[in-house]
Formats: sequence, structure tokens, C-alpha cells
Amino acid sequence: MTDQDKKGFVPGLLKGMGTTARAMTKHAHTQEYPDVSPRLPPRSRGVIALEESNCTSCMLCARECPDWCIYIDSHKETVPPTTEGGRERKENVLDRFAIDFSLCMYCGICIEVCPFDALFWSPEFEYAETDIRDLLHEKDRLGQWMATVPAPPALDQGAPTSPQPSHVGGSTEPPETEQPAP
Ligand code: SF4
Ligand code: SF4
Repeated sequence: MTDQDKKGFVPGLLKGMGTTARAMTKHAHTQEYPDVSPRLPPRSRGVIALEESNCTSCMLCARECPDWCIYIDSHKETVPPTTEGGRERKENVLDRFAIDFSLCMYCGICIEVCPFDALFWSPEFEYAETDIRDLLHEKDRLGQWMATVPAPPALDQGAPTSPQPSHVGGSTEPPETEQPAP
């Protein structure tokens, strides 16, 4: 070691020890998964859950999925009229609904476009498989994820609680809005 090297060694050592001491007093951002479960935000994109009773087999999600990884089969059934003298109706019955999570890129488009609130994000992410074919979740498994879907956040203060605002479907009057105080 030359004299020049010796001069730089001690300040460098002290600087390094100072950095170590500072790091030891700071809160660690790493978590020791899987021994410690991660604290994920409730709206994390873990897996997609299906509320089968809401699905009308409209195929919108399957058509909009950029990865073509949603598979839907359905058939039509005739439903008797609900009122006397009414007409019979045709109704879609869901035979198959599956998502292949080995292809899914978790973009959330299917959930956004579903007009009937049949798809939801669950933060559950521990469904890795040793066989890639097992990442194809059929509707029974997608339905089981519903139990892990967090409750929706509370409505904003003053938001209407009715799912169908009074001005929809009849009255042409605009909805009442709260006027700001003068
Ligand atoms: S999250 Fe995106 S890629 Fe995955 S199934 Fe939905 S639309 Fe397809
Ligand atoms: S999940 Fe929604 S968008 Fe997809 S087929 Fe069912 S109702 Fe239609």
C-alpha cells in the first residue's frame, strides 16, 4: 500500500461505517416473505374473481381482453313470462367461464368493461402452480375468489345512495345538485 493509499483508507473506512450506522437506524422497507405476509393495499391486482349470478354471458370481457385469455360458453334457454299474457323470453345460461392466468397481463380491462359487475379484483396472489395448465381457473374457482374481494370504499359525502338516480329512466329534470354556499 503506498502512502497515498494509506491517506485515503481511514477517511474511506469512516465514511463507510457512517453510512452503515445511518442505515441501521432507518426503517427497513423489505419484508421477509413468505415468513411475513406483505401489507398490500386492498385494491391490489392479485387475481380476478367472478360473481357468476351477475354474468349474462354478453362476451364483452372476452372480446375486449387483449390476450384472448377469457373463455366463455353459453346456451340460450326459454324463460316463461312473468305476467299473465306476457311473452316468453330467451335468456343466456353460462356453461363455462374461465381465465387463463398464464396469459393474463392483469390490465383490468375485463373488469372495467363488464356492464353487470360480474368481475372484481381480489388482492390474493398466492396461486402459483408447478404445472402451468393449472393456472387456467374455471368458473367455480373464479367464484371462490369472491370471498377475498374487499368491500368497496365508502361513498363520498353527499353521493346518492340509490343505484338508479331519480332522473334516470323517465323524468327529464336534471338531478338536484348541492349549491355551494354564497
Ligand atoms: S386482466 Fe386483461 S389480460 Fe387479464 S383477463 Fe382481464 S382483460 Fe384479459
Ligand atoms: S363477466 Fe361481464 S362482460 Fe364478461 S360475459 Fe359476464 S357479464 Fe359480460
